[in-house]
Amino acid sequence: MVLPAAILFDLDDTLISAHLHPREAWTNALRTLDGGLPDTPSVEKAAVEIHDAARWFWSDPERHRIGRLDILTARKTILTKAFAKIGWTADADLVDRIGRHFTEQRRRDTKLFPDAVETLEGLIDRGVRLGLITNGNAIEQRAKVERFDLARHFIHVQIEGEVGFGKPEERAYAHALDKLGTTVEETWIIGDNLDWEVVVPQRLGFYAIWRDPIGNGLPAGTHAKPDRIVTRLAELLDA
Ligand SMILES: [Mg+2]
Repeated sequence: MVLPAAILFDLDDTLISAHLHPREAWTNALRTLDGGLPDTPSVEKAAVEIHDAARWFWSDPERHRIGRLDILTARKTILTKAFAKIGWTADADLVDRIGRHFTEQRRRDTKLFPDAVETLEGLIDRGVRLGLITNGNAIEQRAKVERFDLARHFIHVQIEGEVGFGKPEERAYAHALDKLGTTVEETWIIGDNLDWEVVVPQRLGFYAIWRDPIGNGLPAGTHAKPDRIVTRLAELLDA
C-alpha cells in the first residue's frame, strides 16, 4: 500500500497514552488520600464504582461533549454519582481532592507512545503532510501538545476548545482538510475512537485506521469496520 498525501492524527490514546487503565488511575488517586476516606467500602471497591459512574457519564455523546470541555465539573458529577452508590457523603472538599489527585495521576501516566516521534518523522521524510485533530478543552489539550513538543511535526493543529467545534462534526474534518490542502480521497485518518476516527470519517470518504494501542481488538458488538487496524504506530511506515 502506498502512503497517502496526508494523514490526520488523533492525540489522546493515539500519539499519547492519556486515558488507558482508568480503574487503576482512580484506585491510585484514592490511595494518595491515605486515611482521608471513610473505612468502607475498600479503595478498590470504591474505584470500581467511580469507574462505572465514569463509563455511564462518558457514554452519552452530548454529555461527553460538554464534559470534555469542562473536565472538573464532569469529574464532580461522576464522583457525586459514585458516592451516592457507595454511601459516602458528597463533601465538596473530598470530591475536589479526589478529582485533583485523579487529574495529577493522569498527568503522570500520560506518555508519548515510544514509536510516536519516529513514526511522525518517518512519514514527514516520505512527504506525507500531517495534521493533528483533537477533542477537548483548549488549555488542557494545548498543554499536552506543548509538553510533548508535537506542533513541530504538524502542518495544522486543531483543538476543539480553540476552534469551537470537534469530531464527529463534519466541519471539524472539513476544516482540517482545508488547512492541509488535500482532498478526502488522498487523506487517511487514524485514532482510537471508533465513531470519531472510523465510522464518521469513512462516511465522509476517508481511509480510516483504528488505533488499538493495547491490542485488545475490536470491541464485541461494534458495527465499525476500520480499513486497517494498527497496534504499533510504526506499522504506518510499513505502508
Ligand atoms: Mg483518542
